[in-house]
Amino acid sequence: MNKNDIYQIKIEDISEEGMGIGHVDGMAVFVKDTVTGDLADVKIVKVMKNYAFGRLEKLIEASDVRCEAKCPVARQCGGCIIQHMNYSAQLDMKKSRVINCLKRIGKVENAEELCEGILGMEEEPFHFRNKMQFPIGLDREGRAAIGFYAQRTHSIIPIDNCLTGHPVNKNIIAAVKQYIDECTVGVYDEETGKGLLRHLITRVGFATGEVMVALVVNGDSVPNKDKLLELLGGAVDEYNASAEKKLALKSVMVNINKQKTNRIIGFESKCIFGEDHIFDYIGDVKFRISVESFFQINAYQTERLYGRALQYAKLSGEENVWDMYCGIGTISLFLAGKAKEVYGVEIVPQAIEDAKQNAELNGFSNTSFYVGKAEDVVTDIYSTGGQGSKADVIVVDPPRKGCDEKLLETISSMSPDRIVYVSCNPATLARDVQILSRKGYELKKFTACDMFPHSGHVEVVSLLQKMSNTRPKAITLDVEMEDYYRIKGDRMND
Ligand code: SAH
Repeated sequence: MNKNDIYQIKIEDISEEGMGIGHVDGMAVFVKDTVTGDLADVKIVKVMKNYAFGRLEKLIEASDVRCEAKCPVARQCGGCIIQHMNYSAQLDMKKSRVINCLKRIGKVENAEELCEGILGMEEEPFHFRNKMQFPIGLDREGRAAIGFYAQRTHSIIPIDNCLTGHPVNKNIIAAVKQYIDECTVGVYDEETGKGLLRHLITRVGFATGEVMVALVVNGDSVPNKDKLLELLGGAVDEYNASAEKKLALKSVMVNINKQKTNRIIGFESKCIFGEDHIFDYIGDVKFRISVESFFQINAYQTERLYGRALQYAKLSGEENVWDMYCGIGTISLFLAGKAKEVYGVEIVPQAIEDAKQNAELNGFSNTSFYVGKAEDVVTDIYSTGGQGSKADVIVVDPPRKGCDEKLLETISSMSPDRIVYVSCNPATLARDVQILSRKGYELKKFTACDMFPHSGHVEVVSLLQKMSNTRPKAITLDVEMEDYYRIKGDRMND
């Protein structure tokens, strides 16, 4: 196979990055803008050792899972990489990916039987994000714009709204645009590091209807504050005029970021209207959210995912539970009402501050939170027999790279009856399931969950149970992660 060759390829699968995958003489070819089921003429643009990248030249037979992307800029923006695939096909694809990873990498042969399906969004899979960050800057012609970065450039493609966020964003974007134009407020130029407004951030409590608007500025304040507040108030009123569920503007913040950096949020914030936080709920648990706080983006699907975790944890009220990688304690607080004690550990100190505050806000007195690396903190507690060294149920919700091996070792020594593994990456979940199976834990069931429709992401919650009468086998890692890392580590430049 050579660069510029053209082949007719049947697309058989789709990668996490949203590229169709087909084969030529047994070699995988990744093709942007195609979906499973397409038959296409593909021009080879890059040939690697074991696979290649191709460009769609001509669609010969469109797959029946194709649909018209609802957003006109879905392709340029890069946020919704599979919006051109109908939603039920997206869900099937995500579920199959989880099953395949568990089979191939995790060596779970009966993965299909253990799968309890995928929790897809029940309503229309749009308007699910409770937080949006829109860059503010200059478009190609050098005019002020709010939108998203055009790929590989510093210029902004203006948008009037993003379909994944709350509809009120449309009114807020228009208000900020009007403020910029009428008050001739400067916007940030990434190249020179000059100009005031850098980002517009909106947060909406979907359960409470509370709205926060934050402007990230390259300065200390915003000019014509009263005009800005008047316009923002008007934006929410305008939204409410035709909305079934009314919103309330509760917080307007100015966040200061004078550094020439890709980091969006700076370290100092000032409240210019209302409070410096809003509230929202996941299930019955109340959360206080500030500009900087981490909060689950799709609160509705989070409730369903963690609800399943709670079901798998099967708590009677007598259990000691650990929540490893606890973040702001969402899972901990979800479980606290049903457990005897809940211990959480998380590496980011601010998140633990939030977790403690939220525990108090909800009146829980049976939670303890620790800052540090789970593998260090919990291993120390276990080896010194400290509080929390005994656990009946351990929940883990690690970042994409999965659990640290030292932590898995400590977890198996703690010998809980059940491990509930929440994962945002089925490949590392599968690797860890295999490691845990060699330490005496058997995968009993799992459910996939779609938190980010139109993206390549999929979450999984799974239950592992301690096997009786098994002696843990010696660990020899036997994973087929190459495929996974190969694709990740070597993205197409195009
Ligand atoms: N359930 C959490 C989110 C978990 S995301 C919530 O709802 O808030 C994974 C978390 O693991 C992140 O908060 C990240 O900061 C944390 N983390 C990453 N590496 C870690 C480590 N080695 N030990 C503990 N926490 C870690």
